[in-house]
Amino acid sequence: MFATLSDRLADTFKNLRGKGRLSEADIDATAREIRIALLEADVALPVVKDFVAAVKERARGEEVSQALNPAQQVIKIVNDELVEILGGETRRLRYAKTGPTVIMLAGLQGAGKTTLAAKLALWLKEQGKSPLLVACDLQRPNAVQQLQVNGDKVGVPVFAPEAGNTGGNEDGGDPVGVARASIEEAKRRLFDVVIVDTAGRLGVDAEMMGQAASIRDAVQPDEVLFVVDAMIGQDALTTAQAFLDGVGFDGVVLTKLDGDARGGAALSIRQVTGRPVMFASSGEKMTDFDVFHPDRMASRILDMGDVMTLIEQAEKAFDQEQALKAAQKLSGGDFTLDDFLEQMQQIKKLGSMTKILKMLPGAGQIREQLENFDEREIDRVEAIIRSMTPAERDNPKIIDGSRRARIAKGAGRTVADVNGLVDRFFEARKMMMQMARGGGFAGVPGMPG
Ligand code: GDP
Repeated sequence: MFATLSDRLADTFKNLRGKGRLSEADIDATAREIRIALLEADVALPVVKDFVAAVKERARGEEVSQALNPAQQVIKIVNDELVEILGGETRRLRYAKTGPTVIMLAGLQGAGKTTLAAKLALWLKEQGKSPLLVACDLQRPNAVQQLQVNGDKVGVPVFAPEAGNTGGNEDGGDPVGVARASIEEAKRRLFDVVIVDTAGRLGVDAEMMGQAASIRDAVQPDEVLFVVDAMIGQDALTTAQAFLDGVGFDGVVLTKLDGDARGGAALSIRQVTGRPVMFASSGEKMTDFDVFHPDRMASRILDMGDVMTLIEQAEKAFDQEQALKAAQKLSGGDFTLDDFLEQMQQIKKLGSMTKILKMLPGAGQIREQLENFDEREIDRVEAIIRSMTPAERDNPKIIDGSRRARIAKGAGRTVADVNGLVDRFFEARKMMMQMARGGGFAGVPGMPG
């Protein structure tokens, strides 16, 4: 899922690479490409419109970050907006304050409800809960048996009419009675979560809605979850609307995210229904299930490795004041070893160099350089600078031969290391002064290695 969308967005960002700033024309072209990408992914039109408008506004607006280049800025904006349409914060399950928490599942036949019920039960068990599954789908042949098979797989008991729990209705066909009886059973046997699986139909159907609404009234669920197959595209949205009107629900579970659908339903459902996606199911195995995290889904769509984390770290570590100070000093030519060290430390704030590089997309291609990079080089440079007196750091020209030997000893390095560093410093300073005069930002020169 999302493969085409990911590719398209990646192309859009590629077109921005190497640009110094975003022009109005760049923003328009980018917005157009994003619009096409989303429409092709089958995202609902109103959602696309809002999305593109928001991206455009933000790209034009104040958010000019010194730490990011235009391509990174656009990626950040698109990422933020994706997180937003996917629901923002992760929506956690609400548990009842007293008595068992009741979770009711609703959705069309084939959506994956019965499978999902067992997956959810397993997940709850892993969270330390003791769930009870309740089979209220008394319409579809084998539905009860299927739930029992799945319940066995995950080691969770199933409350079902076959076991003599017909809710007072001897023909075993009263799902409302079964649901009601299951709550009593849960209280008696101290289950703390009850998962009620309801009957679906192949299409939206008034009787099914009526039954689901009766079950809802009988068990007063803490959460009604609408289960929907992400493969059915925009039909998911009309179905969702029908369930919203007919039964109402608090959250959405997307199933079959492992399929190759274009993903538009997943991206639209939150905006269209106003209800968050809470869980996602991505395969037939009982463990193919997880809490839905909008931020993780967005980075998956952007297919950027952990580039968002990197961008955020860069923003945090980048100290604008310090950079300005350094730039001012440069133009006067009085950039010192202390400033050099400060810049090194800015790099270090980003974390391990190898880790940073690994977060970049395409890191695979530079694996060799990654492997040859010696993390300790920055520490060595730091040790040498710290062994100098303040006067020497201010003006390295005064460091003579005997002081070099002394500094090397203090830092546990050789004289050649000290010489190398001093040479690199002068070279970097010269380069930075040239750049400062030329008006460009000096960045972080003198990188070791
Ligand atoms: P229900 O009618 O809503 O109860 O749906 P079922 O739980 O019976 O699921 C319908 C079919 O979809 C079954 O064959 C499941 O194995 C399959 N299924 C359920 N969830 C997923 C999923 O996340 N991925 C895939 N690939 N198949 C799934």
